[in-house]
Amino acid sequence: MTTTSYANILKPLHLGFTTIKNRVVMGSMHTGLEDRFYNYPKLAAYFGERAKGGVGLIITGGISPNRQGWLLPAGGTMNTLGDIAPHRLVTHAVHKHGAKILMQILHAGRYGYQPFVVSASPIKSPISPFKPRQLSDKQILDTIDDYVHCASLAKKAGYDGVEIMGSEGYLLNQFLSRHVNQRTDRWGGDIENRMRFAVEIVKAIREKAGEKFIICFRLSMLDLVHDGNTMNEVITVAKALEQAGVTLLNTGIGWHEARIPTIVTSVPRAAFADYTAEVKKHVSIPVIASNRINMPDTAEAILAAGKADMVQMARPLLADAFWVNKTATNRIDEINTCIACNQACLDHTFKNQRATCLVNPRAAFETELVYLKAAKPKRIAVVGGGVAGMSAATVAASRGHHVTLFEASSDVGGQFNLAKVVPGKEEFHETIRYFKVQIEKTGVELRLNTQVNREQLEREGFDEVIVATGVVPRALKIEGSDAPQVLSYAEVLRGAPVGDRVAVIGAGGIGFDVSEFLLKPPHQPQPQPLADWQREWGVDPNPNYVSEGGSQPAHIEPPVREIYLLQRKTTPLGAGLGKTSGWVHRAQLKKHQVRMLRGVQYKTVTDEGLWIELAGHDQLLRVDTVVVCAGQESVKDIMPQAAEKTLANYHIIGGAKLAAELDAKRAIREGAELAARL
Ligand code: NAP
Ligand code: SF4
Repeated sequence: MTTTSYANILKPLHLGFTTIKNRVVMGSMHTGLEDRFYNYPKLAAYFGERAKGGVGLIITGGISPNRQGWLLPAGGTMNTLGDIAPHRLVTHAVHKHGAKILMQILHAGRYGYQPFVVSASPIKSPISPFKPRQLSDKQILDTIDDYVHCASLAKKAGYDGVEIMGSEGYLLNQFLSRHVNQRTDRWGGDIENRMRFAVEIVKAIREKAGEKFIICFRLSMLDLVHDGNTMNEVITVAKALEQAGVTLLNTGIGWHEARIPTIVTSVPRAAFADYTAEVKKHVSIPVIASNRINMPDTAEAILAAGKADMVQMARPLLADAFWVNKTATNRIDEINTCIACNQACLDHTFKNQRATCLVNPRAAFETELVYLKAAKPKRIAVVGGGVAGMSAATVAASRGHHVTLFEASSDVGGQFNLAKVVPGKEEFHETIRYFKVQIEKTGVELRLNTQVNREQLEREGFDEVIVATGVVPRALKIEGSDAPQVLSYAEVLRGAPVGDRVAVIGAGGIGFDVSEFLLKPPHQPQPQPLADWQREWGVDPNPNYVSEGGSQPAHIEPPVREIYLLQRKTTPLGAGLGKTSGWVHRAQLKKHQVRMLRGVQYKTVTDEGLWIELAGHDQLLRVDTVVVCAGQESVKDIMPQAAEKTLANYHIIGGAKLAAELDAKRAIREGAELAARL
């Protein structure tokens, strides 16, 4: 009998031939480690840690059944006996802790970033430069054989089953939907034909692998592209897949090319659970809900309401490998919450770098970033309670060092305290909460409201001093920039009054954030209510939708301010934002008529507004307020000069070290890496 309030999450799921110990699925997430056999020891450590952390079922990153199916050139493939051995490390590491693991079979179809791409019809996708060849009837049958061969090799490698990737716009989704499938043969036309490929794959795998093998199918329950399926069609496919032998039905939401966000932080938690619930009404196999489920209350609510039988989380388990164990022991405030930023996971994947996690730099680096007990505890001072300082302090203290954290202001959190008030970034609260709890649990001595100087630090006899004093906003240096209507982004986000017409100077991440902050009326409910979000992005709120792919015209509330967003560079604004989230910010500003100007020279600020030079002409932007988002400058006065003698060893991290590339990912990682070495 469980005694926590998360009884539904912790309930085993009996599948007849096997049992999954709880309702948490670690969803598929490509780390990059699966693509090279020599990285499998690292992959095994990564999954092994999550299995130890209590997760019931793990699904690997996508493995291709053949060369045509590669997402990237020479991506992870399972089609020869020689491919099995490294996978055994993974299955063994997971089974040791009583979890189950499925290998995901992913054929990228036209999403492949390589020249062998194939699809239902020869229609190029907007996200790959390669035009696909249309698969012939014979090639489709060969591909089915490749899936079966791949699944039987996975079985030999010790996997409890496979997940067939049928969503997010990959090959099988391309066949399932009219968006790409324009065939007139037995694999195209009505839904019975379009689903034939997926159904035949499942039947053939079931026949070959036998009954005691999990087949999970990730089905697109909301395509969010034109000519996408209706819910009626989704249900038809779901029923056919059940008939064909699927054990578990997983949820996929939105094609990668969809222009509606499905996973970024501004998407409300559990935004898509009702679509899964609709499908669940029509099948008797267990159904898995997915997307923007990151905390136990959200997961428990979905399960308790009977909307799904399991909940899938991928990124939240990168952020915290021990999510399930912490839930099981009611230590919810100790969970390191995924803030859905994508900065270190998906953005890395798209740049062909190893995926990790902004809030947990150990993710996928378990064998490289190791927090061993300190051989000799030291006295460590950390100066600055932003995320870099908190990361360093808590890791050092967890290793047994005596750590004092000095913070000049009345609270820790640094720049995250500004980020958390931006609409759609409420999740940033969670990181501050997590670190506060860690400060307490690891025994860091926190001294707030303490502007420490070097003399004091030397007097107190610390062995090591970590300077994490962060940044201050860069001031604008033009005529009139000391006028009261010129504000820094920090002043604005802390609530300084702003006029109706605004010029935002600097179009980096913060310029975009501040523009979004100023577009909406103050005191909006945060997080955004689901119905408002659906209206704003044109998502059909009816779970039994008849609209194509579940999308409909968006309804945009008029902005409360007239905003100019400006930069000196001539490149498109927002070009430096994250690959998987930047487009959402750009779309938001465009929809709300923010005027974006590039190649601007700033001249003067007067009572009339901001004078700029654009394309060789002086121009007045009649604005009431100028908000400066021109980057930051490091604060590092406390850092000794190279020649100075000090009693302690000094180290510098985060924005204090380098303001130009200030970002939370580097700040948290630098803090953790340094603390792991001391
Ligand atoms: P940033 O990305 O460096 O952008 C600063 C902007 O100010 C630049 O676009 C630059 O453009 C302009 N600028 C620089 N010096 C200037 C000067 N002297 N006068 C006028 N303009 C100047 O910095 P940020 O926006 O402050 O962001 C800081 C960090 O937080 C970044 O690492 C960013 O990635 C991160 N962040 C990310 C997000 C996100 O959505 N992922 C959101 C917020 C913050 P020009 O030189 O072309 O004018
Ligand atoms: Fe979540 Fe961001 Fe970590 Fe990715 S990088 S797992 S989105 S917190």
